[in-house]
Amino acid sequence: ESITVQELANRMAEKGADLVKALFKMGTAVTLNQPIDQDTAELLVEEFGHRIQRVSDADVEIGMEGEVDAPETLKARPPVVTIMGHVDHGKTSLLDALRGTNVVSGESGGITQHIGAYQVKTKGGDTITFLDTPGHEAFSEMRARGANVTDIVILVVAADDGLMPQTIEAINHTKAAGVPMIVAINKVDKPEANPQRIRERLLEHEIVVEDMGGETQDVEVSALKRTGLDDLLDKIMLQAELLELTANPDRAAEGNVVEAQLDKGRGAVATVLVRKGTLKIGDTFVIGSESGKVRAMINDKGQNVKTAGPSTPVEVLGLSGVPMAGDQLTVVENEARAREVAAYRQEQATKKRTTAAPTSFEHMFSALNTKVIEYPVVVKGDVQGSVEAIVSSLNRISTDEIKVRILHSGVGAITESDVTLAAASRAPLIGFNVRPNAKARQLAEREKISLRYYDVIYDLLEEVRGEMAGQLAPER
Ligand code: GDP
Repeated sequence: ESITVQELANRMAEKGADLVKALFKMGTAVTLNQPIDQDTAELLVEEFGHRIQRVSDADVEIGMEGEVDAPETLKARPPVVTIMGHVDHGKTSLLDALRGTNVVSGESGGITQHIGAYQVKTKGGDTITFLDTPGHEAFSEMRARGANVTDIVILVVAADDGLMPQTIEAINHTKAAGVPMIVAINKVDKPEANPQRIRERLLEHEIVVEDMGGETQDVEVSALKRTGLDDLLDKIMLQAELLELTANPDRAAEGNVVEAQLDKGRGAVATVLVRKGTLKIGDTFVIGSESGKVRAMINDKGQNVKTAGPSTPVEVLGLSGVPMAGDQLTVVENEARAREVAAYRQEQATKKRTTAAPTSFEHMFSALNTKVIEYPVVVKGDVQGSVEAIVSSLNRISTDEIKVRILHSGVGAITESDVTLAAASRAPLIGFNVRPNAKARQLAEREKISLRYYDVIYDLLEEVRGEMAGQLAPER
């Protein structure tokens, strides 16, 4: 799949020469009639502030007609929310408390069913979808698999504790994903709670709440006493309105797997979050590299349903095998087609596992919504002093054209969380006098993350600087 610079310029209604200039800045010297690959084209599209309407991989690769939804077909859809925060700060309690708000609003009788996601109706009649697996690991894992399902992140911080390592990780994962955040200051029922201190500490991480003149919404809650919950729901809806979340409900469904397992009585079962279209009983689909036909659907209240529209989570029965979290579900016209697409995806998955290039400095330049080329990196070191020195030195070698973006930095061994974060942004991971633990090493291998170890700061900086310069040069 490639497109010439001129063709792309025409489609974006931009001047061809401007595209050539932008490409030159990215380190690619091309003429108007030369083709560029899809990744480069996407970078350009974003650089120029246009939206990419990407048909799913299967559509592109096997020539299925990619339907782009016309603006008039788009209808508002519920926001999808993920809760993050440090262990014991109350993520699970908050998820439970929010789920409970539903029962109050009259939906009694239904036995809550844990299917990996659930929906809440607000007093104002709006619907909000919550993903039931809290934490940034699941979030970034999904993202690394191409499933950006979360619209809004709720960062839970215990008012009696403060910002802890996983709070900071959650902040960094959220920022890397470019997802808006609402801060829920929890446990305000405790006598030693000090919400104001949390707001102040957040400033250190460039999170400025509204009361302090910033743009991040915050809300004081107690998951235990169930206070502040309606306020939180209101703020989620406020944020959702700003995001103008829409989807076309009247088309063949697409969605993502939230969780999946083999069930003794029911066979392979997956909870799917419908992203667009409406999933119906009898639909034939491909899910990851499995295929199937919707035999039954069960919602988060344990009820059988016949249809599921955008942002609705449903448990789907009728799969040929167990897919993975993040896998995409695509409804297709018939079983022959489903098998074809499934076989194709299986082949692609194998190919990707065996031939995927490691993330390299060439891969990591993302020009997302900014004119400056960004160079994302994750830094771990043995002591706070060296981590700080590395971070400030890396920030100093940024130029007007290319900027180092520290996705996360911290003290200690390289963990799985560091790797999932790096993977989701295709950034390299720098270890200064530290190594990954076994699990992180395996994950890094699987995700083809570039792990780099240093014991001299100068070497680290020289190498990064050299590759940044190489990236900007017109020829390499
Ligand atoms: P998670 O690890 O972030 O999921 O945290 P949990 O939801 O498991 O909560 C950890 C502990 O904090 C539990 O003992 C909860 O009962 C307690 N907890 C959670 N929310 C509140 C709250 O609002 N107030 C008080 N006092 N305790 C809470």
